[in-house]
Amino acid sequence: MSEAVDEDLELSDEDVEEIISIISKDGIYLRSEIVRVSCPICGEEFIGTKRHAGGFLGGHQVYHESIIREYENAIKHGGV
Ligand SMILES: [Zn+2]
Repeated sequence: MSEAVDEDLELSDEDVEEIISIISKDGIYLRSEIVRVSCPICGEEFIGTKRHAGGFLGGHQVYHESIIREYENAIKHGGV
């Protein structure tokens, strides 16, 4: 099992499914699996730990929902 420090963690395609320990400012992530996820709305991809993948997906969801809401509001108010 390899170890990495959060700040110099460099991930690539080849690291997907690797199990590593990551030492970060918040604590040590033991047996973190590196996963690859993509946003179902825009297709952007992310490689990283599940924790960060969750942040990526959640962040995209919030972003895309806000864009959709803005668009719907514009229609409702007779804009566009
Ligand atoms: Zn997205």
